[in-house]
Amino acid sequence: MHIKDKLAACEKSGKPCFSFEYYVPKTAQGVQNLYDRMERMGSFGPQFIDITWNAGGRLSNLTTEMVNVAQTVYGLETCMHLTCTGMEKEKVDHALKEAYNGGCTNILALRGDPPRENEKWSAVPGGFRYAKDLVKHIRDKYGDYFDIGVAGYPEGCDDEVDPDVLLDHLKEKVDAGGTFIITQMFYDVDIFLDWVKKVRAKGITVPIIPGIMPIHTYAAFIRRATWTKIKIPEKWMEALEPVKNDDVAVRDIGRDLVVELCQKILDSGINQLHFYTMNLATATRMVLEGLDMMPSLDSPEPPALPFKSSLGLG
Ligand code: FAD
Repeated sequence: MHIKDKLAACEKSGKPCFSFEYYVPKTAQGVQNLYDRMERMGSFGPQFIDITWNAGGRLSNLTTEMVNVAQTVYGLETCMHLTCTGMEKEKVDHALKEAYNGGCTNILALRGDPPRENEKWSAVPGGFRYAKDLVKHIRDKYGDYFDIGVAGYPEGCDDEVDPDVLLDHLKEKVDAGGTFIITQMFYDVDIFLDWVKKVRAKGITVPIIPGIMPIHTYAAFIRRATWTKIKIPEKWMEALEPVKNDDVAVRDIGRDLVVELCQKILDSGINQLHFYTMNLATATRMVLEGLDMMPSLDSPEPPALPFKSSLGLG
């Protein structure tokens, strides 16, 4: 089922909904652990899950395998991330074919992070330059078969900080065929809500799904905020810095802060939350519990379906 249809059904129900992002692990054991967690977290009731793509296509076989397993073995509606950084068109087409063959009908079309060793990203000859080119390519090749999401940046992205220019580029991606937007993580809810108004003022009407990063540890919280160059509200630092060496306290206080952030988003009328799980269950579950969004204890858990990755990484 297309994510846009899931979002429309969620909107109609009047109840808040959520989804989970997982990244591709580097070892065979990590893959098996993630399958177990995916299945367990599937019982929380996500609308969909999505699986990241390593820019340039490293581990691409694993992304397509995991998408296939999540969709067909675990019955989770799955969205495959696909980047076009440093990738030949043939590799992009191969990935799309694998997704198609695996029953996946949702793609998050991205340019990809620039390679770390280079200061600037440059396109492969004959390849794609921007995410909008990938969106257009998917639409040209597959029509409406795939639902296509694109990335949004309430606080700017790597190589463009001018919010107005970024909004123009976001509009181009949507005009090329994007039907929903998933945002970069943020901790300042006012920046996000202000950005949503600007997106709407640009005439972009597709659903906006806020990306939420629960707090696992203090070190990871600071590292990710620094990496994505997002603002941490003063109140958050005042609450978390004094307990930074106490992981349990960080998680508890972090839960309260993230619950408050999510509640403000829900109160604004946006009723879908997208959690960057970092392949971990606890912090995300704590936030969902705090929002009263976990299914009741008497709902039956799906039976365990063991699956072994065929790729033998490790
Ligand atoms: P684009 O929208 O193409 O934008 C890239 C840059 O080009 C921007 O500065 C933009 O302003 C500029 N630009 C766009 N169009 C034009 C134009 N017409 N003229 C001039 N400049 C233009 N990375 C991964 O490697 N793998 C993942 O799985 C992954 N998942 C992500 C999921 C989400 C929700 C988000 C928010 C990001 C994700 N990323 C991922 C990171 C993303 O690939 C990087 O942030 C990347 O630098 C930008 O990707 P984009 O798709 O937004 O690119």
